[in-house]
Amino acid sequence: MFDLLIIGAGPAGISAAWEAQKLGLEYLVIEKKLIGNTIYNYPVGLAVFSTVNELEFNEGDLRPAREKPTREELLSYYVRFVLENNLNVQTEEEVLNVEKLAENHFRITSDQGVYESKAVLFAIGAMEYLRKLNVPGENLPKVHHLFRETYPYVKKNAMVIGGGNSAGEAALFLAQEGANAILAIFRADWENNDPKQGCIKYWVKQPLEEELSKECLNVYFLKRVVEIRENEIVLENEDGRIETFPNDVVFILIGADAELGLLKNLGVETHKSKYGEVPVYDEETFETNIAGVYVAGHFTEARHIAGAINVPKKIIPKIAEKLI
Ligand SMILES: Cc1cc2nc3c(=O)[nH]c(=O)nc-3n(C[C@H](O)[C@H](O)[C@H](O)COP(=O)(O)OP(=O)(O)OC[C@H]3O[C@@H](n4cnc5c(N)ncnc54)[C@H](O)[C@@H]3O)c2cc1C
Repeated sequence: MFDLLIIGAGPAGISAAWEAQKLGLEYLVIEKKLIGNTIYNYPVGLAVFSTVNELEFNEGDLRPAREKPTREELLSYYVRFVLENNLNVQTEEEVLNVEKLAENHFRITSDQGVYESKAVLFAIGAMEYLRKLNVPGENLPKVHHLFRETYPYVKKNAMVIGGGNSAGEAALFLAQEGANAILAIFRADWENNDPKQGCIKYWVKQPLEEELSKECLNVYFLKRVVEIRENEIVLENEDGRIETFPNDVVFILIGADAELGLLKNLGVETHKSKYGEVPVYDEETFETNIAGVYVAGHFTEARHIAGAINVPKKIIPKIAEKLI
């Protein structure tokens, strides 16, 4: 019987494991893919937007070559942190079901075994379902819902669709590395400069505007995507004009949603927030309406890595107190 079973080994799950280990709890982390899998999926070479102090578990641990770490530096830091501290993390194992058998008694079923634990922390992130436009042609092999790298697209006609930082960054990388890139975006998103609303960050937008003036990049004010074809894409612009562009590759970067099925099966309540559907939880303890079931990280309202790391620091000692 574990004291705490943690689902997911992103920043939230690793932070929770570290706190649990320091307090001497019997804990296990089950991760369905790789340690830091969401960061593994960032674009190759991306410099993250957070400052170092928002990304590290202990002050001074993460030492990037420049001011902000790259994807590779951050991923390496998280992987080494798990290994060097001997955190009890099992990877490539998916949690399929969680049942509450009694107070302080859960049964967790994965694709590789059955575990029992007194409490469960969901640190499952919010990247399970990459959002789709549901337009004709979206299933063609040239259409991607994640952006990984630029080099296959040099001299290609690339269309990036989306209004947030990921779309802005992808368009910038593509334009800078020699693709003919178009960023198709709602005008309201392009003109939105409010960081709280997930706009394109100013350090992405400024070079984007420079690329625009060099004509490597076009911004297209979109009403809707009409159809994606083998060698073309059909868009409707903000004035209702239908236009067809030659096209080799499409990146649809419009966000992702969490899989809340495991929580809902347990009876955890959810509500609609500005980020979409999120679990209901106590803001101090991050415990849900099902006693012993806790949440942390990107699928809660503490969404960034800083929150994913800090919430477990605050709640794991409280969970430990309850269990002893
Ligand atoms: C391109 C990009 C750039 C970003 N840049 C920044 C940045 O600069 N700063 C910042 O603060 N945030 C940034 N973010 C957001 C950041 O990645 C998230 O806030 C962070 O990953 C949240 O950590 P987490 O531990 O909550 O979730 P995740 O890191 O998503 O980890 C959740 C883990 O749970 C696992 N999992 C899910 N379901 C199961 C299951 N059933 N069984 C077992 N395992 C499961 C997943 O495989 C995953 O590894 C960025 C996001 C993207 C896409």
